[in-house]
Order: sequence, then C-alpha cells, then structure tokens
Amino acid sequence: MAKIYKDKDVDLSILSKKVVAVLGYGIQGRAWALNMRDSGVKIIIGVRPGKSFDLARQEGFEVYSVSEAVKRADIIAVLLPDMTQPSVWSAEIAPNLRRDMNVIFAHGFNIRFGLIKPPNDVDVVLIAPKAPGKAVRDEFVRGWGVPALVAVHQDFTGNALKTALAVAKANGFTRVGVIETTFAEETETDLIGEQNVLVGGLLQLLKYGFEVMVELGYQPEVAYFEAINEAKLIMDLIWERGLTGMLLGVSETARYGGLTVGPFVINEDVKRRMREAAERVRNGEFAREWVNENQRGALKLRELLKQVQNSQVERIGEELRMMMRSG
Ligand code: NDP
Ligand code: MG
Ligand code: MG
Repeated sequence: MAKIYKDKDVDLSILSKKVVAVLGYGIQGRAWALNMRDSGVKIIIGVRPGKSFDLARQEGFEVYSVSEAVKRADIIAVLLPDMTQPSVWSAEIAPNLRRDMNVIFAHGFNIRFGLIKPPNDVDVVLIAPKAPGKAVRDEFVRGWGVPALVAVHQDFTGNALKTALAVAKANGFTRVGVIETTFAEETETDLIGEQNVLVGGLLQLLKYGFEVMVELGYQPEVAYFEAINEAKLIMDLIWERGLTGMLLGVSETARYGGLTVGPFVINEDVKRRMREAAERVRNGEFAREWVNENQRGALKLRELLKQVQNSQVERIGEELRMMMRSG
C-alpha cells in the first residue's frame, strides 16, 4: 500500500519563518501562490515582465524577476513551463541558489531526464498535483483540495520531505491525500498516462468513433452526441462509482455490447502499442524527441494542433456546444 500523508501528519510551522518564491504565475503558479498566501505563508513571485507579471501584481503579490525572487527566498517552487525550465534554471535560478534552500518541482521531467542538475547543497523535491491548476485553486477555496504526489530527489538539510509536505498542506493537497513516490515514477506515469489514455488515446478513440459513424452516412450532429458528448457522462459515472458502477448505470444492452465489443476494438495489439509507447518514455526517447521539437520551434506541434482545430468534428462540436449552452 502506498504511503499517504494527510493534514494530521504534517506540521505547517516549518514554513513560519520562510519565504517561498513561486516562479511562474501561470496555470499552477497562480493557484499555488493564492492558496499558500491564504494559508498564511509568506509568498513572493518571480516571473518575466508581461501578462502574468501584471496579474500577480494586481492580485497583491510582491513580484520580481526570477533571479531576484530566488535571491530573496528560502524555498522556490519552479512553476515555469517544463521546456522553459532548463534555460531559466541556468541563467537565473542556479546562480542565485544558496546552501540549504529547498527547490520544488511540480513535475519531474527535467530532473528525471537530466536536463536540470541541481547542486548538491540544496533540497530537491517534487509536489505534483494530480489535477489541472484551476481545480487546485477552486477546490482549495471550497475548503477541500486535490490529491498530489510527493517525492524527494535530494535531501541535503534532512528536512526535505517535511518542507515539501508543509507546502503541500498549504495548498490543500493533504486535505485529500499526498502519495509518496519518486521523480521517475511520477514523470514516467504522467507521460505514459497522458499519451496512452488521457490525451492521446482518448482523443484518437473519440475521433475514430465519430468518423466511423459519419463515414457510414449518419448525421455528424448525431455522431457527435453519441461518440463525444456522452463520453463525459460516462466518465462522470466512472469517476463517481467506478468501472462496475458505470456498467450498472448504463442499459443492459450497452453493458453486454460494451463488454463484448470493447476488447474487439481495443485489442491486444493496441495494448502492445501502449507498451511500446511506454517503453519510449522509459528509455528517454520521447523526452529527446520533445526537447528537439522545442528547439526547432515546436512547428510539428503547431501543425498537429491546427489539424485538430480545422477538423469537421470540431466545427460540429462548436455548434452543438453553443446550442446546448444557450437558452
Ligand atoms: P504555464 O505555462 O501555465 O505558466 C508558465 C508561467 O511561467 C507563466 O507565468 C509565464 O509567464 C512564466 N514564464 C514562461 N517563460 C518564462 C521565462 N522565460 N521567465 C520567467 N517566467 C516565464 O505553466 P503550468 O502552470 O502549466 O506548468 C508549470 C509546472 O506545473 C510544469 O512543471 C507542469 O508540468 C506542472 N504541472 C502543470 C499542470 C497543469 O495543470 N497545467 C498539472 C500538474 C503539473 P508569461 O505569462 O509571461 O508567459
Ligand atoms: Mg498529468
Ligand atoms: Mg503531464
């Protein structure tokens, strides 16, 4: 059974005399900064001049350049885009790190794949919320939180885990539960999960499901409702009641058809490919490809995104979503 930390296991007072610099005021950075300020932690923001910088100021924070924020902090939370972190690290973070500081990442990518190599005399930890930034803030405001993972890469002070857990508590994560893991496990499962299931597999499944019906001559609007719109309702059932709960919540015909045809469509061959994709994550091939893609200006990513944006299913979806929202 995984080791899980709850509020009662964690002492916030370890943060009482510390300054926490949140680096980046984007999806995660803003949520963390607001949550921790509400928990009474002294927060400063480090970000480049621009939209985020102005917003952080408007929302009442002391805002500095990344270098200046690192100089003024005891703990830094690196909440910059993963692909931006290595260059900002060498130019602005590393030169200003001091012995005994605590460095927090929200995703293990750059440590796991060796793109950032912190000095030996700081703590390096991971607090990875298992939810989008919006939920990190909304759930906290509601008096609850989202689950998260915690890991220690380097424990120089002897307090690395305690400090990480205190930051997790200040964000509301230990209200739900924080699971102990490693940088490797978090990074690899995050990438494997988003590629095989959450983003990659799901998108392709929905797209093919829609296309097959349209190619057979059914109306695209009807296909959209069947193959895409209802997927949310099915996921809600799974989220609330588990797989069996979902199966018991659909018609008997759907239950039988689903259980017999599902493994015909998503067959062993798909599973073999999932393993292959996972292997490319584990052996670092995917990380190398993604870093190279970024160095070339992420042109392929932009092209692929454009293809989805311009597809028929998106046009139909937009119309139907508008229809469902009005009135
Ligand atoms: P965002 O892209 O939302 O935010 C990036 C922030 O960094 C912005 O404030 C941006 O400012 C700033 N920034 C970008 N480039 C620089 C630079 N060169 N110098 C200074 N500041 C810069 O990132 P996310 O919140 O999505 O991701 C942050 C971390 O959280 C990542 O490690 C990610 O993997 C992790 N994470 C994210 C999740 C999510 O829901 N998005 C979920 C779990 C983990 P500007 O406005 O000027 O661009
Ligand atoms: Mg993830
Ligand atoms: Mg991810």
